[in-house]
Amino acid sequence: MDPRSGPHNDDDDKLHEECGIFGVIGATEAAAACALGLHALQHRGQEAAGITSFDGAEFYTRRGLGHVADNFATGDSIAELPGFMACGHVRYSTTGGAGLRNVQPLYADLAFGGFAVAHNGNISNARTVRQELVRKGAIFQSTSDTEVIIHLIATSRYPKLLDKVVDALRLVEGAYSLVCTTPHGMIACRDPLGVRPLVMGRLGDATVFASETVALDVIGGEFIRQVEPGELVEVDFDGKITSHHPFGHHHPRPCIFEHVYFSRPDSIFNRRSVYESRKQIGVELAREAPCDADLVVPVPDSGVPAAIGYAQESGIPFELGIIRSHYVGRTFIQPSDGARHAGVRRKHNANRLLVEGKRIVLIDDSIVRGTTSVKIVEMMRDAGAREVHFRVASPPTGYGCYYGVDTPERSKLLAGRMDQAAMCAFIKADSLAFVSIDGLYRAVGLAGRNAAQPQYCDACFTGDYPTQLTDLAERKGDEAQLALAVEPARAKEREYGSKVA
Ligand code: SF4
Repeated sequence: MDPRSGPHNDDDDKLHEECGIFGVIGATEAAAACALGLHALQHRGQEAAGITSFDGAEFYTRRGLGHVADNFATGDSIAELPGFMACGHVRYSTTGGAGLRNVQPLYADLAFGGFAVAHNGNISNARTVRQELVRKGAIFQSTSDTEVIIHLIATSRYPKLLDKVVDALRLVEGAYSLVCTTPHGMIACRDPLGVRPLVMGRLGDATVFASETVALDVIGGEFIRQVEPGELVEVDFDGKITSHHPFGHHHPRPCIFEHVYFSRPDSIFNRRSVYESRKQIGVELAREAPCDADLVVPVPDSGVPAAIGYAQESGIPFELGIIRSHYVGRTFIQPSDGARHAGVRRKHNANRLLVEGKRIVLIDDSIVRGTTSVKIVEMMRDAGAREVHFRVASPPTGYGCYYGVDTPERSKLLAGRMDQAAMCAFIKADSLAFVSIDGLYRAVGLAGRNAAQPQYCDACFTGDYPTQLTDLAERKGDEAQLALAVEPARAKEREYGSKVA
């Protein structure tokens, strides 16, 4: 289908991080801290939110579709979640998994007691492992890949809980950051390559885990360090922290797209300010793809730091030539082709008197399907821009992600089906350029990409996947997202407060 036709979601021309996770142990009102932390991670997932708490005797879970504020804004909702330990989750999901039964944390009563897990990532052999478990008699409650981990823990023959968790994780491949609440304390871990982020902090005497440092800032906590790739951190009820490295040494491959778009710019990712990385990408872009122009204009908000860097390096003035409305719902679906053009202006509008008669360098963080880029270029021209040059603060996104990021299949990615000249013609820009893969690596503080041993996961740009993709191989190249089964129907109404005692 021509991506310029048909219904269009304002926000579907970005890659979406599918989850954010948070955990706290040793706090007087753990669920309240968790709700606040999840709110700071809302950009990582807006479809659903959930929290499981533990008061020393019982586990309590509340989950709901929608934003954190839809589910945890009231004192009553927090009062349902007593205890000093809690883990929580925000989730983004498009097809095949938005029902309440897939909303996390997932909870199970296991032989050793209650177990709740919040997972960020994607298990790329989940379908294969699940089929084997079902063959042996396992009964699944959800279509989430995370439930596979719970079943593997439940059926592990090791007597100790931590060994069961390690045993389970040895059988899965892909990307996972986990925060688990158990009757003995909290376990947090990252997959051996550290594809998805996880950091550790302190809030008074409490220990906190979160997908991003911004969640620690927002709760008034203190950043201690990142959880290292392949590390399992155990925290007991006395606050004792024990670190384990059961998977041996692997060369880490954290997701470089966290620097480009997923993380909030006020977060620290992989020991580096995300804001600084984004600004530096703009610097690299100005060096690699200079442009004779009058103004540097960001596509707000995500293009702003790179545009500042581009402007500083090039000497071309930075101006807000596009104004973004902050009151547009993220999931507004355009009902018709006519309304579609009005739709993009609900979110972005040209600052007409500023851009009229000017040569503009537009800076965006990425091009996914190209639908938004087409409309933004058209909007600049309608506002009287004399020339529109498009610069992109990431390399062409030509490959799907199987590590917990919602990506269109390759045939729907603009860079998956066109070369750069064709993309430029498609978006109707006067010129188009992307930062190179080495430029991106330089921007995050490295000398360049080490082709023999890449320092990050960059598979959506290079097709170089750092893990096996067993389910994809089993499906012989079917590039649809590896949801385990198709959800029968998207939940039509909110199902609040499933309480697990
Ligand atoms: S494929 Fe891209 S989005 Fe996915 S983990 Fe790797 S770098 Fe991140």
